[in-house]
Amino acid sequence: MYERSVIDELKKNVLLQDIVSKDTDLKEVGNKLIGSCPMPEHKDSNPSFNIYKETNTYFCHGCKCTGDVFKYLTERDKIGFVKAVEEVAKIAGKSIVKQKNFKPKRETYELEVVNKIIAEEYHNNLMNAPKVVKDYLRERGIARESVKKYYLGFASKDWNQVVGALKKRGVSKKLAIESGTVVENDRGGLRDVFRSRLMFPVIDQHNRVIGFAGRTIPHYYEHSSKYMNTKKTPLYSKGEVLYGMHLAHEQIKKNNKVYIVEGYMDAITMRQAGIYNTVAIGGTSYTNAHFRQLSKLATQGVLLLDGDHGGKKALENIYEKVVDSELDLTIKLLPSGEDPDTFISKFDKEHEEEIDKLPETTPLDLHIEKIQEKLNVKDITKAGPNTLARISQNIEKEIGRIADNQNRAIHLSRLYSKLKIKQYVESQEKSYE
Ligand SMILES: [Zn+2]
Repeated sequence: MYERSVIDELKKNVLLQDIVSKDTDLKEVGNKLIGSCPMPEHKDSNPSFNIYKETNTYFCHGCKCTGDVFKYLTERDKIGFVKAVEEVAKIAGKSIVKQKNFKPKRETYELEVVNKIIAEEYHNNLMNAPKVVKDYLRERGIARESVKKYYLGFASKDWNQVVGALKKRGVSKKLAIESGTVVENDRGGLRDVFRSRLMFPVIDQHNRVIGFAGRTIPHYYEHSSKYMNTKKTPLYSKGEVLYGMHLAHEQIKKNNKVYIVEGYMDAITMRQAGIYNTVAIGGTSYTNAHFRQLSKLATQGVLLLDGDHGGKKALENIYEKVVDSELDLTIKLLPSGEDPDTFISKFDKEHEEEIDKLPETTPLDLHIEKIQEKLNVKDITKAGPNTLARISQNIEKEIGRIADNQNRAIHLSRLYSKLKIKQYVESQEKSYE
């Protein structure tokens, strides 16, 4: 068996297209490469085999085969995983050290299939949900089309809704537990984790269901915690999740702009209002991972925040989180008591223009304010050179994390112009020449 890091490294460095192109002709279409399916069982008449360059994975619309470089070889040549790793290593020209007592993580494609079954179960169950559940969706203004597009679902009061569905499809107990939607009960059997909740499957930009969030339904069953998320699984990590990515990613790229909201419902309402380039972080705090992911699709980001305390709390350390991500972030604060959902609902049209009119700030402005507070500087316009130098030094520390020289210089000059330290800008710029 092999060290996980070796496997990860191979997975990153050996391009699927280099292997597959020897088996079938590939044509480049956007971010994908498309060709006739090379799997021996699949007599593919029109090209249904896709390679996603971003993730170095494949999927065939015909025979539904899917996976990464290793999976490709196990499926094509009917060999085991370890053998496939050796083959890939050979292609990469690397020697791999064999290790005992090491089990590579199960590949995620199995979990992807299981998650899809679970999402289907919740979704179909929504059609048979009690009236109060459907009424709630109507009250919140969730259109029928959104229910379908976001694949919303319903977890009933049952202890074994998902358990039963997975059993019927022959999913192993181990894999079922790995999905995070079922756990072992006291008697060694299984029981559902999500019960009496409206379910939001989290679907990524490759249309994989990676996890779930469940929301309390008013007048049906009110849990003490309004939201509940899948625990950490090989596919799902709360700090990286961007809800609505499957519907938003193309438009984000096209517009070179992304709207970021907090709640699941907010993301849905924004889309219903025609703002398709919206994702939600689902009530967690913002992380570097969120912004890094988004900066791969766009350079402009607009954070739309509730005008209450919760919104302000979300902004703690926002500068540190976004500064090294290559995303230019603007923060729009909604009027007190409003969230994107209620704000959008006030207008019939031109929603984006209304958002544009909102007062805005930037992470840098917020950061300067924070340092000012820390250093107890009341009025920055009256600050002397030593005070300004101390404020500036505090912020330069963060800017220092930006890897690219030119990028760093631009951030510095933006900082100096905000602090109105003109002379200093020039001398600093010289040191970058
Ligand atoms: Zn196929």
